[in-house]
Amino acid sequence: VYALEIKDLKKTYKDGVEAVKGISLTVEKGDFFALLGPNGAGKSTIIGVISSLVQKSSGKVSVFEHDIDKELELAKLCIGLVPQEFNFNQFEKVLQIVVNQAGYYGVKKDVALQRAEKYLTQLDLWQKRDSPARALSGGMKRRLMIARALMHEPQLLILDEPTAGVDIELRRSMWAFLTELNEQGVTIILTTHYLEEAEMLCRNIGIIDKGILVECTSMKSLLSRL
Ligand code: ADP
Ligand code: ADP
Repeated sequence: VYALEIKDLKKTYKDGVEAVKGISLTVEKGDFFALLGPNGAGKSTIIGVISSLVQKSSGKVSVFEHDIDKELELAKLCIGLVPQEFNFNQFEKVLQIVVNQAGYYGVKKDVALQRAEKYLTQLDLWQKRDSPARALSGGMKRRLMIARALMHEPQLLILDEPTAGVDIELRRSMWAFLTELNEQGVTIILTTHYLEEAEMLCRNIGIIDKGILVECTSMKSLLSRL
């Protein structure tokens, strides 16, 4: 089973920028996959299309065999998205933010509270549950984004530059958390422009440059050639 299947995906923005110029790739269930490329390569656009925040120009995208043109709601249920920018309400409390998110997905209140305690504890935010989000440090806000994305227990977690601007200590603990999550069976796709991050975490890698997939290979095979 493929967690993600992309066929000949193209995206041209209204202003004429061709951000994605015909990319095909597959990510298997259970994989830990990196989309690596420099700024402006098209990584966020691809993630935007997969999570239906960006309208594609052409091509096919399926998430766990749900074509996003035909079964968008089912596809969305499979995905937990961690965008780059903090998009929670800064005045809401941490616990409220994650519990509300579960509510959008129809998760019952008692289950939502159990999950909130589990994920906020794992991400070292449980003591902060009654703090408004704006009172958190940048690293805590990043972890809150991850906890929120996990509340409906998606099969596929997609993270856009999850450790951008995060110090090395926190980066390591986030890496450990993501590795553990993947070991429990969650498929993970992240974008990064650090080869080191992809190397630490990922089994397979797609290298993107100027809207084109330059290479798609196993991390092992790539490293053996460097
Ligand atoms: P990356 O995530 O790899 O940095 P992006 O997908 O953000 O790349 O951007 C790819 C290209 O698309 C860049 O040239 C960027 O300026 C352009 N782009 C991104 N978002 C928009 C948008 N909303 N409107 C127009 N152009 C955009
Ligand atoms: P709306 O229907 O008003 O566009 P959504 O239900 O799509 O709102 O999103 C509500 C909140 O959940 C937003 O903050 C959004 O960023 C976030 N979100 C949307 N889709 C996902 C997802 N698949 N995983 C995690 N968070 C998501």
